[in-house]
Amino acid sequence: MVNGAAELSQHIQAWRDAARDPRVDALMRELESQAQEQLRIHRPVCLASGKCCNFEQHGHSMWMTGLEVAWTLSQLSSAPTSSEVAASVRLGNCPFLAQGMCGIHQARPLGCRAYFCDQAGDGWQEAMMESWLGRIRSLHTELEVAYRYDEWRRLLGAFSA
Ligand code: SF4
Repeated sequence: MVNGAAELSQHIQAWRDAARDPRVDALMRELESQAQEQLRIHRPVCLASGKCCNFEQHGHSMWMTGLEVAWTLSQLSSAPTSSEVAASVRLGNCPFLAQGMCGIHQARPLGCRAYFCDQAGDGWQEAMMESWLGRIRSLHTELEVAYRYDEWRRLLGAFSA
């Protein structure tokens, strides 16, 4: 579902508050461990092509939920400003990309942990992400916060406004 910035912004505080709930941290850590285990099993090849972080150049986009963005930002000492997010939209990349590397590697979102341009990985990646999304969606219901699935930089822009 594509949402306008104004529609997203009304949920920001609720997502930030919910992200402090230990159930969010527990689920995110569990899913990160699952990602690690799946990488160990499937061993996708990473050629450091930059495809995963230079979205427009490679016809790739990254989507996630508002709650995931709130939790990711809660792990960081600082968040990108609205002008940094706008610049990344103009450049077609991620605001956390720094000199070709992920600037938040340890805290990168689940979508970044699951996406590999290695075509051999397509099937398992999609299945894993579908399963994660189901768990994350259920957590929104449990925590009684709005579920919004949207593009990474559009959500970051709403959080930085
Ligand atoms: S958070 Fe890091 S890994 Fe994910 S798209 Fe941005 S720079 Fe790439």
